[in-house]
Amino acid sequence: MSDLYELRCKECGKAWGNSARSFCEDCFSPLEVYFDYDSLKKTVRRENLVGRAFNMWRYAEFLPLQEGYAARGDVGGTPLVASTKLAARWGVKSLFIKNDAVCFPSLSFKDRVVATALAAARRFGFQTVGCSSTGNLANAVAAQAAQQGFDACVFIPADLEPAKVLNTAVYGARIVRIDGNYDHVNRLCAQIADRFQWGLVNVNLRPYYSEGSKTHGFEIAEQLGWRLPDNVVVPMAGGSLIGKIAKAFRELVTLGWVEDKPVKFFGAQATGCSPISSAVKRGLTRFEPQKPNTIARSLAIGNPADGNYASKLIRESGGWAEDVSDSEIVSAIRLLAETEGIFTETAGGVTAGVAEKLIREGRIHPDETTVVCITGNGLKTTDAIAAEFPLTEAIAPRIEAFEAYLESQLPATAAARA
Ligand SMILES: *Cc1c(COP(=O)(O)O)cnc(C)c1O
Ligand SMILES: [Zn+2]
Repeated sequence: MSDLYELRCKECGKAWGNSARSFCEDCFSPLEVYFDYDSLKKTVRRENLVGRAFNMWRYAEFLPLQEGYAARGDVGGTPLVASTKLAARWGVKSLFIKNDAVCFPSLSFKDRVVATALAAARRFGFQTVGCSSTGNLANAVAAQAAQQGFDACVFIPADLEPAKVLNTAVYGARIVRIDGNYDHVNRLCAQIADRFQWGLVNVNLRPYYSEGSKTHGFEIAEQLGWRLPDNVVVPMAGGSLIGKIAKAFRELVTLGWVEDKPVKFFGAQATGCSPISSAVKRGLTRFEPQKPNTIARSLAIGNPADGNYASKLIRESGGWAEDVSDSEIVSAIRLLAETEGIFTETAGGVTAGVAEKLIREGRIHPDETTVVCITGNGLKTTDAIAAEFPLTEAIAPRIEAFEAYLESQLPATAAARA
């Protein structure tokens, strides 16, 4: 191959070169980007990274980009926060939060996948790009399409959070609201990709899209000082991100950049949409599709494309999957904000809530190193927690009014101080 990568079928192994397709026409299994690691070993070393900016493009050789691709935008490169207060609260020794709530440009990890998908869209000559989205993906497509001069047309379930719709519209993208849930939207998009010459990032460009998620994993390993953690807790919608973090870790081992060690993968879902965590908990090899009903809209995929691969990875790694209720999601959002100063969206509430549950159940050991992957920003899902924080009454701009206010609050103030 002229590139150092190509599409191959995940099941029958047939090679499909590089083109805008996502499944094998022989056996209908998904396609995956395979790299020529022997050549990669010769062309890139860890030392090459010194002096490169800390964003996802520092791992360019591991991404399906055309030679000489001029990457645009400061995507990724998010903090890995060493937790003290939350770790103490949960009784664990070594806890890190990978914080993609502040991923640029659109404040979720979806910026990473869109970055590699648009590189493929450029390569294959698409002028219009789009996606089926539970919210964040539409934000990321709209923002990066605007920046790079693509036309954008995104498809979303009609009942998405207003902030996520607005965060797409502002960039000038065309938004098509569909009367149905994400799985209906996704089915429609498969037909649209067939009929129109459009690059739908998570449909016909899906293999290139999902490679972008690897950079979340590369950054974790590098920020731990080129070490792998013992445990990773990852939110699951389509089940792609969790598999790509595993792929990233494997690639670093293959190239000899980190020492090999077993990493346990833990998947997080909302109870109201938990096809993958249910499959893991019930020991099924194939998940059963569900009809989503949860405030964690960004994870509300009832028929996840990579669901069976995700549950297999979790089982084989010695990890586990769990799910949390809507009220547990809200509590976990509050807890992460109050302890670490990180305001995450409902998906992050799912991840943090599940991490706590797994620690309590003894599935995550307190003396091991655990990374919790926070993937989106709380300002996009304020509706989900607004009821928790009713507005206080306004007071007059006078010192007596403030004193009277404090007086009236005394029991609460004293309790807060205690
Ligand atoms: C899309 C999304 C996920 C899950 O991604 P998959 O790769 O589809 O499993 C997690 N968190 C947030 C905030 C998302 O938008
Ligand atoms: Zn095949």
